[in-house]
Amino acid sequence: MTRLTQADCAALDQSDALREFRSEFIVSPEGVYLDGNSLGLLTHAARDRVRTLVEQEWATDAVQGWHKRDWVNLPERLGARLARLVGAHADEVTVADSTSVNLFKLAVACCRANASGKRRKIVTELGNFPTDLYILQGLTELLGSNLELCAVPREQVLNTIDGDTALVVLTHVHYKSADMFDMPAVTRLAHEHGALILWDLCHSVGALPVDLGGAGADVAVGCGYKYLNGGPGAPAFLYVKRELQQRLQPSITGWMGHANPFEFGDDYRPAADIRRHRSGTPGILGLAALDGSLSVFDRVDMQAVRHKSVRLTELFIELVEQECAGHGLSLVTPRDAAQRGSHVSFQHDNGYEIMRALIARNVVGDFRAPDVVRFGLTPLYTRHVDVWNAVAALREVLETGAWQQADYRIRLAVT
Ligand SMILES: *Cc1c(COP(=O)(O)O)cnc(C)c1O
Repeated sequence: MTRLTQADCAALDQSDALREFRSEFIVSPEGVYLDGNSLGLLTHAARDRVRTLVEQEWATDAVQGWHKRDWVNLPERLGARLARLVGAHADEVTVADSTSVNLFKLAVACCRANASGKRRKIVTELGNFPTDLYILQGLTELLGSNLELCAVPREQVLNTIDGDTALVVLTHVHYKSADMFDMPAVTRLAHEHGALILWDLCHSVGALPVDLGGAGADVAVGCGYKYLNGGPGAPAFLYVKRELQQRLQPSITGWMGHANPFEFGDDYRPAADIRRHRSGTPGILGLAALDGSLSVFDRVDMQAVRHKSVRLTELFIELVEQECAGHGLSLVTPRDAAQRGSHVSFQHDNGYEIMRALIARNVVGDFRAPDVVRFGLTPLYTRHVDVWNAVAALREVLETGAWQQADYRIRLAVT
């Protein structure tokens, strides 16, 4: 195999169909940001949209903004734009709350609709993102003896789905390994057994094309602050397929999900459409940032994003193996591009210290306990030459043993 060079990477950047998008982002001229799968970078559009909201809408219109600026429909207007990114109809998606809360809301709704008699299992993956497991543990306790949570190792998930399964909850792209489930095949399997399926799209949306409609998926949730760049703690989204919208009762029966909130009636009556899964008053500041960042995605071809993502992850793996061999890194992410999302992870016994040393060199990835270093490759603003520079820094850290500096052993609250 011929060795890859920095010039090869620069050449790939020249022919990159998405290269224009980098200027939409505020990218530090120093270092390399490979953590857009944890917190996406700020877009000029989001910054401008938040400024406009604060200075020209909130400041001047106050309560009238709900009408004059149509804040009241902003969650569904954003949902309709997000729908294209996940293969949904415009009326199947809305933006609300956090991923954790949306997961709770939809998992409860699915259990109430589909669990009865022997059908009382919730199937999920051990090692799923913690909030998914914790939410399911909590709701199983809350809903009582009618439900049983079956969290099993990844390789047993498919065999555990059976005629007693009410709901399957899976993360499409694994947060640590980037392993990707075959969404159409797993959805089909769940349906053959009469189960409903909830997909967590946190590491998929904005990173690769998702086709919930094509897969026949029932419900889904996803994150606004990772690949969608909606800002720290940005509102999340939820999807319910049309055929299920009447059948799924809202789990948090707040007034904003009422059929007519401004009737101020004493009795709850759910909205007929996706709005029933709203809970309280939408946070317009957070939605405004997401509004801005989605205006960039409105112009993005997700097939082009996937194409570049595959190239970037492939390049990252190849370069680490070429430049950092013999230093104890082992690849956790699937080698087969068809089975992986848009990040690359390696196991190393000193992963935490290595990541701290990289961050000190302005190469920002992250660490996932107990021993995984993770690098997110975000096609809209990561260049091939950034991959080269990041791997060069990793090599330097490993070869010089710079990671052994004592203070790198001290764990920070957020890793
Ligand atoms: C990031 C992530 C979440 C985040 O949930 P929050 O409620 O936003 O904290 C949930 N699930 C998965 C799979 C994630 O990767």
